[in-house]
Amino acid sequence: MPLARREHRLGAIKQDDPTADGLAMAACAHGMDAAWCYLCRVDNEGTDPHVLWGLEFDDDLELLETSTDPMSPEMSGYLRFLCEELHMRYDETFTHGEAAMVIQGLLTDPASENQRRTLMALDGDGTADTLSYGQARTSIRRMIALRGLRSA
Ligand SMILES: [Zn+2]
Repeated sequence: MPLARREHRLGAIKQDDPTADGLAMAACAHGMDAAWCYLCRVDNEGTDPHVLWGLEFDDDLELLETSTDPMSPEMSGYLRFLCEELHMRYDETFTHGEAAMVIQGLLTDPASENQRRTLMALDGDGTADTLSYGQARTSIRRMIALRGLRSA
């Protein structure tokens, strides 16, 4: 897709990746690029999107910290997703409680590159720079709800 058309489509998205223009853009169902669209990442992960949006566990993570059970499939899917997003090594040997503890920490990390690009495409005001991962996720969720895009 020619650059002008792409910028028209995405609005004022920041082109901070020098390799981005050399790659073929795969426009996704959300009007963004499947390579970084956060909605696509959540939808295509194979874990319940409710979990990945933080709706399933996040209120209970502190309580879950003491669990010595193995990770449930949902918890391991959640941890794996966050590790991929934030370029951390995923450790499949964590207990349910250890995963809950690590996830709380990861949610306070700075927003991921996928989130930043998605936020820029959705509203373009650049506020993602100061957001934590958890805050950026909440902002994206709010924006897609306002626009009627599909979400969990
Ligand atoms: Zn998408």
